[in-house]
Amino acid sequence: MSRQKEHANLFEDALSRLEEVFAAINVHGDARERLMQPNLVMRVSVPVRMDDGSLKVFPGWRVQYNNTLGPAKGGIRFHPDVNQDEVTTLSFWMSVKCAVVDLPYGGGKGGVRVDPKTLSKLELERLARSYVRAIVDIMGPDRDIPAPDVNTNSMVMGWMADEFDHLARGKVPAAITGKPPELGGSLGRVAATGRGALHVLDLWAAREQRRPEETTLAIQGFGNAAYHFARLAHERGYRIIAVSDSKGAIYSRQGLDPDSIMEQKTQNQRLHDMVYCDDSVCIAEDAEPIERDELLTLEADVLVLAALENQVHEDNVDQVKAGALLEIANGPVTSRADARLEERGVPVLPDVLANTGGVIVSYYEWVQNRSGERWTEEEVNSRLAKRLERQSRLVFERAEREDISYRKAAYRQGIEHISRAIQLRGNCQ
Ligand code: GLU
Repeated sequence: MSRQKEHANLFEDALSRLEEVFAAINVHGDARERLMQPNLVMRVSVPVRMDDGSLKVFPGWRVQYNNTLGPAKGGIRFHPDVNQDEVTTLSFWMSVKCAVVDLPYGGGKGGVRVDPKTLSKLELERLARSYVRAIVDIMGPDRDIPAPDVNTNSMVMGWMADEFDHLARGKVPAAITGKPPELGGSLGRVAATGRGALHVLDLWAAREQRRPEETTLAIQGFGNAAYHFARLAHERGYRIIAVSDSKGAIYSRQGLDPDSIMEQKTQNQRLHDMVYCDDSVCIAEDAEPIERDELLTLEADVLVLAALENQVHEDNVDQVKAGALLEIANGPVTSRADARLEERGVPVLPDVLANTGGVIVSYYEWVQNRSGERWTEEEVNSRLAKRLERQSRLVFERAEREDISYRKAAYRQGIEHISRAIQLRGNCQ
């Protein structure tokens, strides 16, 4: 099957992992029935008055996949490739990951098909507000709680939270997470996805008796999650031999300095045309540009996938030479590629565990908003570390006990949890 075909069937691909769980463990019939399709798919038009006075209408979606464990939870992405299949799949993954790390949430996701790089700041604000007006009827702290995702950040969440407050005629900070701290956002939220992924990598590395200093990382992506992961991993002593963005990549055997890269990135420099080393800045003395996709096939101890879904697929999986994979993006490895990696004995630290740091700290934000408390960053980070340690151990031990991949163990863990809750709700549906 070609990559394009795999791509067109993202949701089917995701469901195949569910079917695998159903075949392996005892899942109640009600849960099997419920989990095969989303609870609610909302397709909206998102009108935006452009700076030149014209009106543009962008297609948008919000999907609530499952709300058995609690309100739907998940981010909103602004990207030119957003479509209903993708948003539905992402909402399914949110349901699984919230269950894997034991959050009182179901899964949801939203998206608008737009290239935010072509919008002015005011147009972006109007888009964010217009999207909230379009989905307001299904939102709320006990119903569905949006957050940031690809190309959305705390500034966008701030506008969305403000719009929601206007519509609700009151202050409802727990309706959206990932807000700026001044508007009730949690300290530690911005770095949480990267920090969480590093915890999972550290916990795995410790089990493998592997020290950070002897571990090389190739990181696909340099967005929010990837940057904070790279920064913290560099601090811990891991050697980052490559990073990429959507246009190109940089490679260095000595190891790259993520902060020097970020410095130039904030001045809108793309990776392939940055200054790699001169008197004022040094990313690495031996840094050199490589093709974006070359990064995937480098000899690295861990290939870190922190860009978008479907990056490692049937056609390139056999060229992947890394000793292990860490998924910070959602769904970066297709199920067929995953099966190949499993056959070859290459461990994958799966998205539904490795990228949960973001939603975990979103949960802490929601808890703080509802109780009127403000926690210190240390408090947030230490709770995050403890939860990930506990939940990762469950996944690692299950994988060992049942002799299965980490992904299968995580899915079994999450689906079992949702399925028990569906059963306990009884027969009223
Ligand atoms: N978009 C992030 C994710 O995919 C965070 C979701 C959230 O904080 O609700 O996990």
